[in-house]
Amino acid sequence: MSSHVFYRKYRPKTFREVSGQEFIVKVLQEAVHRGTISHAYLLAGPRGTGKTTLARILAKALNCLKPKHGDPCGSCENCVSIEKGFFVDVIEMDAASHGGVDEVREIKDAVEFQPMHSQYKIYIIDEAHMLSKAACNALLKILEEPPRYVVFILATTEPEKMIPTVLSRVQRFDFKKLTYKEVRQKLTRITNEESLTIPDDALTHICYLAEGCLRDAEMMLDQVAHIDLKEHNIQTIFNRPSTVKLMQLLHSIATQNSSDSLAKLTEFETSSIPPVHFLRDLLSLARKVVLLKLHKGAADILSKEISKEDIATLTLLSEQFNLHHLTTLIQNLIESRKNIYYSPIPFLPIELAILTSLEETTLS
Ligand SMILES: [Zn+2]
Repeated sequence: MSSHVFYRKYRPKTFREVSGQEFIVKVLQEAVHRGTISHAYLLAGPRGTGKTTLARILAKALNCLKPKHGDPCGSCENCVSIEKGFFVDVIEMDAASHGGVDEVREIKDAVEFQPMHSQYKIYIIDEAHMLSKAACNALLKILEEPPRYVVFILATTEPEKMIPTVLSRVQRFDFKKLTYKEVRQKLTRITNEESLTIPDDALTHICYLAEGCLRDAEMMLDQVAHIDLKEHNIQTIFNRPSTVKLMQLLHSIATQNSSDSLAKLTEFETSSIPPVHFLRDLLSLARKVVLLKLHKGAADILSKEISKEDIATLTLLSEQFNLHHLTTLIQNLIESRKNIYYSPIPFLPIELAILTSLEETTLS
């Protein structure tokens, strides 16, 4: 079974079904409702946060035969065929594979013709930062005098790579990563509708591992949907270190217990977790400890990505750690990253980083 089942099945089809990005959804829906449409939009932001999904919803909303306050009905002829990708007036292209000047010149010729079955002719260009320079210039020519019925929706994960002249001609929306709560709500909805029995702590871990990328969360849920999770640890399935064990390791480090730290590290090493995953997850937790130590509102901010129980444990750690010790640890760990690939024992640079930080703080 493909691990895209839930992602496809539960992909939002209307503005009201979108998780997160409330502000963007509201502005776009209102613009459709009021008919104040821009000729070019840029949807920018991290992967898996709904850019292409929202682009399609906007395309439907603009051409829907029975929109409800700017939201597509989802069931008219136009909505259905846009959803299936058969609609002639909604053209999707991936600039990563078709971002050359010829493709854009073809668009330039095609925009001269009015839409065949609808009010708007819509071009959705994914990975728009991959458009070649010549293609961008051709696109600019269109955007200088766009026919009234043409709308471009550009999506990109790397807006900083787009040329300023294009950026100056688009209405830009910056997508944010989804919060822990938003990912959780969506997964809960899926587990309910699919009658899946996934333990609560497993769902928590998936939301945590997804780091704000809803698509990743849905794919992970797919992978574990039919496994008896009582027998498996979810982090083992995804080859990630257990958060609880990582926090225990941080506790040993905070309390300057070298032998215990080393024992715990050895346990990670023998569990076949890739050292890069281990390092990333450890650093991500250590960073949260710093935040909790220095910033009063940190618990509030973090509650959007991790569970209450984890915040409580991390807060305790923030009290146990000396700030200098913690920043030294983080610096050493970052430093160790580049040595992992060269070291005959990949975990060794990480071990050394931790032991050095323990030593430095004992001496200071
Ligand atoms: Zn419709």
